[in-house]
Amino acid sequence: MKITSAEFIISNSDASKCPNEPLPEYAFIGRSNVGKSSLINMLTNHKNLAKTSGKPGKTQLINHFKINQNWFLVDLPGYGYARVSKKTKETFQKFITDYFETREQLVCAFVLIDIRLEAQKIDLEFINYLGEAGVPFCIIFTKADKIGKVKAQQNVAAYKKKVLANGWEEMPQHFITSSSDGTGKESLLTFIDQINEG
Ligand code: GDP
Repeated sequence: MKITSAEFIISNSDASKCPNEPLPEYAFIGRSNVGKSSLINMLTNHKNLAKTSGKPGKTQLINHFKINQNWFLVDLPGYGYARVSKKTKETFQKFITDYFETREQLVCAFVLIDIRLEAQKIDLEFINYLGEAGVPFCIIFTKADKIGKVKAQQNVAAYKKKVLANGWEEMPQHFITSSSDGTGKESLLTFIDQINEG
């Protein structure tokens, strides 16, 4: 699939106010600075559809983008940044969990993980939450250009071990990506396309 149109529709902090249109929906979420905005911009061939920023925690809303007039790409707030209050964290958490637990159009959540890092507790907890809530998800490893191909495979294998040790029977479907060199773009878009074409 090639993305030919990507249109911002709405931002909100209330899952019930997301668009009513019954289009399949794919959500992107991860820790702040994981490379989510860069990935969304890469996938959609936009320089600045999602705001790329050095400052963690800037996108704090549910952002809907309509893609090719036939599916929604949803940019969810980054989690796990230190500089917000506990209260703010709880509020975010509530609308994100509301979104995951009520959004019928949601086909797949993509959980972004920086391929360079060891498995982080917060990501493993989040993956477990999705599993318990019955939300279909895939893992997207980001920033693969920052390490070599061999190291990337080693890190994914190490990640898999952690996921299995964390109670999963198998490693969820995953993609290795780089927004800098386009690695993984085709695989991800094909994956989405195949589901949409059903
Ligand atoms: P977000 O907070 O998750 O939206 O992360 P951003 O997309 O704003 O990226 C955070 C930082 O990582 C920025 O400085 C990006 O330029 C950098 N970055 C993101 N993706 C990649 C990538 O695939 N390769 C490299 N080398 N840098 C990346």
